[in-house]
Amino acid sequence: MTDTPTQLFIGGAWVDAADGATLPVDDPATGEILCHVADAGPKDAKLAEEAAVQAQHEWARTAPRVRSEILRRAYEIILERTDELAHLMTSEMGKPLAEARGEVAYAAEFFRWFSEEAVRIDGGLATLPDGRNRMLLSRRPVGPCLLITPWNFPLAMGTRKIGPAVAAGCTMVLKPAPQTPLSSLALAAILKEAGLPDGVLNVVTTSRAGEVCEPLLRGGRIRKLSFTGSTAVGQLLLAQSAEAVVRTSMELGGNAPFIVFEDADLDKAVDGAMAAKMRNMGEACTAANRFFVHRSVAQEFGRRLAERMGALVVGPGTRDGVDVGPLIDRRGRAKVEELVADAVERGAQVLEGGRTPEGPGCFYPPTVLADVDPGSRLMDTEIFGPVAAILTFDDEDEVIRRANDTPWGLVGYVFTEGLDRALRVSERLEVGMVGLNTGLVSNPAAPFGGVKQSGLGREGGRVGIDEFLEYQYLAVPVN
Ligand code: NAD
Repeated sequence: MTDTPTQLFIGGAWVDAADGATLPVDDPATGEILCHVADAGPKDAKLAEEAAVQAQHEWARTAPRVRSEILRRAYEIILERTDELAHLMTSEMGKPLAEARGEVAYAAEFFRWFSEEAVRIDGGLATLPDGRNRMLLSRRPVGPCLLITPWNFPLAMGTRKIGPAVAAGCTMVLKPAPQTPLSSLALAAILKEAGLPDGVLNVVTTSRAGEVCEPLLRGGRIRKLSFTGSTAVGQLLLAQSAEAVVRTSMELGGNAPFIVFEDADLDKAVDGAMAAKMRNMGEACTAANRFFVHRSVAQEFGRRLAERMGALVVGPGTRDGVDVGPLIDRRGRAKVEELVADAVERGAQVLEGGRTPEGPGCFYPPTVLADVDPGSRLMDTEIFGPVAAILTFDDEDEVIRRANDTPWGLVGYVFTEGLDRALRVSERLEVGMVGLNTGLVSNPAAPFGGVKQSGLGREGGRVGIDEFLEYQYLAVPVN
């Protein structure tokens, strides 16, 4: 912790906020302040933007191989420092160390993946239908980008954006969530060490997100916004991006259905439910939010899930043997408590958990609710906590209709042993990703993203870099 930078990173230098402001970083396991970091204001953001704009031209001309090797070195440094980075993340965010180590590996993988993509940016030459004109296509970096990340995956949400931006030749201003600035600052230090030129990545930590970001989006110099966060903030940023016609990628909220058919392998379904619900204490956009279980297996599924959830150990993420860390803050926990209380008031049965423990820290126990009323608030709110809400269904058409009856469409989970049904149901779900007999979909090599109000564009996979590239078409008549 002592080596982690706490200043803004602008033009390759570590600097204080112009007005000297700082913001506290809390440990959600104790509620105590870990340290303070610089709290950027609009003036600092402008300096960061200026550094990104100044660096853009040279950076775009850098050989793809050079950009690729910077990412590859950063990948290796991240892996070498797995323990250090995992501790940092657990301290500021709360997830158990084992999960934090998993996130470090996942985050690093985006750099490896995009180091391989940097050297495969293609173009083309074609003869047009008239037989005379030629079309020369090349691909250019879109320009300086604003990257805004959430607190739930502090390292991976950064690398998932920085990786393709570096590979494409874009410069960046990164604004991490105020709850988890340290992982992003550590990442900036690693990229500098890996040889990233000054000004290519700039990091502004701030508690004044609106004041800092809005002028950049409206100013016309930032050419691209890549945002991960809530749908409400995404909508606001889309409106702000309209003025200067800023290109946007939006990874927003989810309300994932988790469907267990009567022909599912229940062992797989319960394993899948544990992964889809309990990864990151349920604080994931991909978290299963609504469990639709066929009436004939609902009781058995609920019993087994409650047993597994009840066996999890809750405690500070740094303690050995802990499976479930604290939620991010008191506000996050209060939201979970309210959603559970509302469901119980409407008749849900508590099979497991459901009671906030006494004492410091933002802990909430793994909870399973059965017979949840479809009108409960948690049916159309991201729970963002370790609460599994089970509803029953009777037939396939009905469950598809109910699963799609939401403004979101990030991910869905389908458990069935029938191939026909698996394909039929997956094709009818209005989501960007489907986990088929698995509770885990995230993979740097796959395109991550949603439809409807879950977002625009994809991150990762072969298409992840496209979000940071523009085509240029050169018309060449040949006589
Ligand atoms: P949030 O929307 O409150 O904040 C996300 C980021 O936006 C933070 O950095 C925050 O400081 C910033 N922000 C807030 N107001 C802003 C403004 N007016 N202008 C500019 N920036 C602003 O979300 P959160 O609570 O940090 O994260 C949880 C949300 O993120 C959930 O809805 C979750 O589903 C979503 N999420 C989505 C994905 C995905 O890939 N689809 C991944 C992780 C999290």
